[in-house]
Amino acid sequence: MRPLSYVRAESVEDAIAFVSADPHSAFLAGGTTEVDLVRLGVERPDLLVDINRLPLDLVEELPGGGLRIGALARMSDVAHEPIVRERYPGISQALLLGASEQLRNMASIGGNLCQRTRCAYFRDDLSPCNKREPGSGCSALEGLNRGHAILGTSESCIATHPSDLAVPLVAFDAVVHTIGPGGARSLAIDDFYLLPGETPEVEHPLEHGELIAAIELPPLALARDSLYLKFRDRQSYEFALVSVLAAVEVRDGAIADVRLGLGGVGTKPWRARRAEAELLGAPATAASFAAAAAAELEPAQLREHNAFKRPLAERAIVRGLTAALRGGGRMNGALP
Ligand code: SF4
Repeated sequence: MRPLSYVRAESVEDAIAFVSADPHSAFLAGGTTEVDLVRLGVERPDLLVDINRLPLDLVEELPGGGLRIGALARMSDVAHEPIVRERYPGISQALLLGASEQLRNMASIGGNLCQRTRCAYFRDDLSPCNKREPGSGCSALEGLNRGHAILGTSESCIATHPSDLAVPLVAFDAVVHTIGPGGARSLAIDDFYLLPGETPEVEHPLEHGELIAAIELPPLALARDSLYLKFRDRQSYEFALVSVLAAVEVRDGAIADVRLGLGGVGTKPWRARRAEAELLGAPATAASFAAAAAAELEPAQLREHNAFKRPLAERAIVRGLTAALRGGGRMNGALP
């Protein structure tokens, strides 16, 4: 058994100072993934700094119609927040389709965005895994890769990013605000997630001791009709094989604005930019949606067990866009 120290931070400054001072330390929020990984020996901190008492849990309206969500707000609280349901229903749906009721009551928004992959080889310290042990190899390339990514992969890692919440946040151009030893900074959420390349162990551009303080959502009219669909092996407490966030605005018969995000298929929460580019200016028809979906999935790298994800993702995009066009998250019964 490894000894593990624990300290509870009473201020943001203290939390950053504790973690910055010890290269083998980590922040602890809800702990719903992190404690599992420590128990499995996948993560081996010497010190956990509990940040649950820090005043970073508010959901605040911003001038102009945006929202600021504190990193320590709980998944359940944000999902049921009326202003979130009204302005960004796709976020509320993504949160409620993730994990279980108990986990959603514990898990924080910041922790959700930083959760590690569910690749079984990553959690098994007897298997080669470049993300856990850089340079050791990737067991999933020729192994059981049914749940693995088909977009954004490399020969070093094909692990899927597991967060549902991150998919609408990427589609809505959210901004991640951090505070660290060097001060405060803001990162576009698409830049917050790094592709695996040759260094899959580096998932975010965060410095050691840098803390996520909040997520900011810009005002976005079409997000009010956004919709999040999740396709998985069972209907609860399961990760996505494919998920889609769709929001679309049509003017004079043509698509004037569109947001598309994909989960379950990318090594990072996937902004479907190819599909969006195809759709802008096109008629809002099933044929346009299908052509855009095919364009998005064209670069997919398929493996022995996950080739089904390509047609599944294409159909999910078409279905998501069709449903969003009909009223998205404001449809009765759309919220889980
Ligand atoms: Fe490790 Fe990534 Fe390969 Fe999974 S896919 S075994 S996380 S390197």
